[in-house]
Amino acid sequence: MSEPTPAATAPLTAQPPSHKSWADEADEESNATASSSSAPPQTSSLEVDDLTIEDNKKPPKLLDDPDDSNIQTVTSGETPYTSAATFEDLNLSPELLKGLYVEMKFQKPSKIQAISLPMILNPPHRDLIAQAHNGSGKTTCFVLGMLSRVDPKLQVPQALCICPTRELAIQNTEVLRKMGKYTGISSECAIPTDSRVDLPIAKRAPIMAQVIIGTPGTIKKWMTFKKLGVTRLKILVFDEADQMLAEDGFKDDSLRIMKEIEKSNSNCQVLLFSATFNDIVKNFVSRTVKKDHNKLFVKKEELSLDAVKQYKVHCPDELSKIEVIKDYIFEIGENVGQTIIFVRTRESAKMLHKSLVDLGYEVTSIQGALDHEERDKIVKEFKDGLTQVLISTDVLARGFDQQQINLVINYDLPVKHTPEYNTREREPDYEVYLHRVGRAGRFGRKGAVFNLICGERDERLMSKIENHFGTHVTEVKEKSVEDYKGALKEAGLLQ
Ligand code: ADP
Ligand code: MG
Repeated sequence: MSEPTPAATAPLTAQPPSHKSWADEADEESNATASSSSAPPQTSSLEVDDLTIEDNKKPPKLLDDPDDSNIQTVTSGETPYTSAATFEDLNLSPELLKGLYVEMKFQKPSKIQAISLPMILNPPHRDLIAQAHNGSGKTTCFVLGMLSRVDPKLQVPQALCICPTRELAIQNTEVLRKMGKYTGISSECAIPTDSRVDLPIAKRAPIMAQVIIGTPGTIKKWMTFKKLGVTRLKILVFDEADQMLAEDGFKDDSLRIMKEIEKSNSNCQVLLFSATFNDIVKNFVSRTVKKDHNKLFVKKEELSLDAVKQYKVHCPDELSKIEVIKDYIFEIGENVGQTIIFVRTRESAKMLHKSLVDLGYEVTSIQGALDHEERDKIVKEFKDGLTQVLISTDVLARGFDQQQINLVINYDLPVKHTPEYNTREREPDYEVYLHRVGRAGRFGRKGAVFNLICGERDERLMSKIENHFGTHVTEVKEKSVEDYKGALKEAGLLQ
């Protein structure tokens, strides 16, 4: 696949393959050969009806509850788990309940929370592999898990959460601090900082915080330097677990961290969360956790992307992609909320940013070349609603939660980063596609994604994506105002 050709004003040189040094590319299917999984646990399938939430206790419905009704549960052993209709049913501390209601303004658990939280919180605290749709509230599952299992009186690390990007680590830390505001539980975000101002690791005091959330590199470093003790860890969480355990993701780091913890601590509960687990990763993760783990999976066909309407626009060349964005999507979708534009490479991000800024648009872009402070600032401005349009590489494809994002534009379709990418046509990255789309339509909200298709290779990628998910992506004519309006209306974003 050729990289984007020069567009608008910005000259563009041939681009090297992107590097994974800071995880700005999302996961790929692992090449690991799947061998037979461990002995199957005793299976007791919870019926969907058992998982519905009691109607008489239901508060007024503000949003469509994200529908995870086809989550399949496989529990291990005899432990009976009943789903929680209310947060009170979970025996949470009054401080945590206050955090949920007052700070988070949640009213009742979402389906994935109702099903998974009893498994996480109740003895014997089995390991859990949980899959649920993007935007369905997985963070709350593991944040409540960590906050509930920490002993507030014990000032040592007791919970560790590992995430693929610094942005996600920061976001999860913010959620934990907000939800746990009244608990007094301390937390620390373990992410790379600016080495010029940072104290060398060897001179740092040992970590006392009760919860640590961070990226694998920094966590590994803290552990290697014996600054992060893990003997008292009760709970270890992997967010975006399939990427964390994928061959081309962070498998080595993640396994090393797990092994190190196991050495001194056999009782640590492991939770793996993601919206996607392809078969190879699914097989592998089942073997990395303890044999008697619980599982929640969504059937592949149920993972369809119905909440967010998908469209494709055929663009004759790269320049027309930019015209489609400014003359049609921005014009017609001006008031529909925030927009995120995904590009494949940092160079594309820079080029598109410059082109749109030169044309007078206010956009920001985040990509790896920026320093940490700048990246954090750009994300914060977008989260605070100060900017409306953000251009991003796949660094934000996963996990990034901003409820006001209603539009996702795939300037480039996501492809897998295979080593032989120069010689073979690249395959679509289905998981990344699903995650990108999932940046819109958070927690049952509405959204639309526009895929900009340029050339036959893009067309092949698009049709493979359509086949994979068994969905039809509606075409919007490049210059048809009516088509764009119709699309946004259908997505529920325009009257
Ligand atoms: P994901 O499953 O993709 O990780 P998140 O945990 O980021 O989803 O949650 C998506 C959004 O839904 C967040 O903005 C979060 O605050 C909101 N949310 C989660 N649980 C609830 C709930 N029980 N009630 C209302 N909003 C919720
Ligand atoms: Mg998430």
